[in-house]
Amino acid sequence: MKSYDLRCPACGTVNRGLYLEETDGWMECEKCGNVTQSMEHRQTVLIPLLLRAQSRNDHKQADRLAAVI
Ligand SMILES: [Zn+2]
Repeated sequence: MKSYDLRCPACGTVNRGLYLEETDGWMECEKCGNVTQSMEHRQTVLIPLLLRAQSRNDHKQADRLAAVI
């Protein structure tokens, strides 16, 4: 598994050898103890949002909408 070096956004300390894929991007700073999540390494799930079109005019646009959770 790949490990990452990540700078703590709270105190600026670089935390080395983090297994961010295992923790879904979460890390606990070794210096200040703050727990933060790296958006870069978060497993983002895209779920299509299906809308029933109110009219035929917006039907095509509604099909292209998607929600991020
Ligand atoms: Zn810190």
